Amino acid sequence: MKVNIFRTEKEFESIAQSSSIGFVPTMGNLHAGHISLLERSLKENEISIMSIFVNPTQFAAGEDFNTYPRTFEADLRKIQLMADNYPSKEVIVFFPENEKVIYPEGWKPIDYRPGSLALELEGSLRPNHFDGVIQVVKRLFDIVKPQKAYFGQKDFQQLAIIKKMVKDLGLPLQIIGMPIVREEDGLAMSSRNQYLDATQRQDAQKIYRTLCNICEIGKNHLDQAQSLVAECLGKDPNWNYLTIREPKTLSLKLEGHKELVVLANYKMGKTKLLDNMIFHI
Ligand code: AMP
Repeated sequence: MKVNIFRTEKEFESIAQSSSIGFVPTMGNLHAGHISLLERSLKENEISIMSIFVNPTQFAAGEDFNTYPRTFEADLRKIQLMADNYPSKEVIVFFPENEKVIYPEGWKPIDYRPGSLALELEGSLRPNHFDGVIQVVKRLFDIVKPQKAYFGQKDFQQLAIIKKMVKDLGLPLQIIGMPIVREEDGLAMSSRNQYLDATQRQDAQKIYRTLCNICEIGKNHLDQAQSLVAECLGKDPNWNYLTIREPKTLSLKLEGHKELVVLANYKMGKTKLLDNMIFHI
């Protein structure tokens, strides 16, 4: 089936209210990670809507908003290829024709703060980032009106914040977190990986290796895993953070929790590489 492209909010009026709608918000420059979210949505819904919108409000001054790769034609081909596997399902790409579609005259940001969850880790590296994410995701939910929305665990803190927002605001949809899709050498797929030169790309393997080591040790000896984290941080100043947390609240209080997550952000030149891994005690 042909993939339809919506460029305005009004076009959503044509969607039958009775259909089940799955939603995958993205900033485009799609890779297999994004497409895995679309595939899950295709399996679970009659209509799958993937948005492609590079949201200016989640970038700080000096970040890569202007240079963020915009590859709509290639993205569309990847979407069509996956959609072709599900001929009875409908796929809509929401590619707003301009920022005003998302932020029209008179639009007011919602007054919602997820609390401490948004203040550290990515929140402290990228001040206001999560506020931008919350606003755009809430606005997209209002336009698309999905029953289910799919997010990658790659952005673990973002997923935790969105789940909390949906719960706190009582929004009528289910948030589904999907596993990280990785390159063959373990590097988490990301649109920003293409900023790396050959040496940096090679060097980036250590992020996955480090996470694997910490999890492998942590499942039997949490104290030794914590020592390894401290050793890594001490040896290499490029870890923006490397930390073991409780997965729901991202608290440092780990006692009594069977499931934990190692969260990492590594500075590779000008690029910040994000990754994480869950382990069980
Ligand atoms: P982005 O366009 O990079 O903001 O990502 C859009 C969605 O795709 C978010 O929910 C991300 O968490 C998810 N995503 C990005 N990279 C991956 C990956 N390697 N594996 C799974 N999901 C991903």
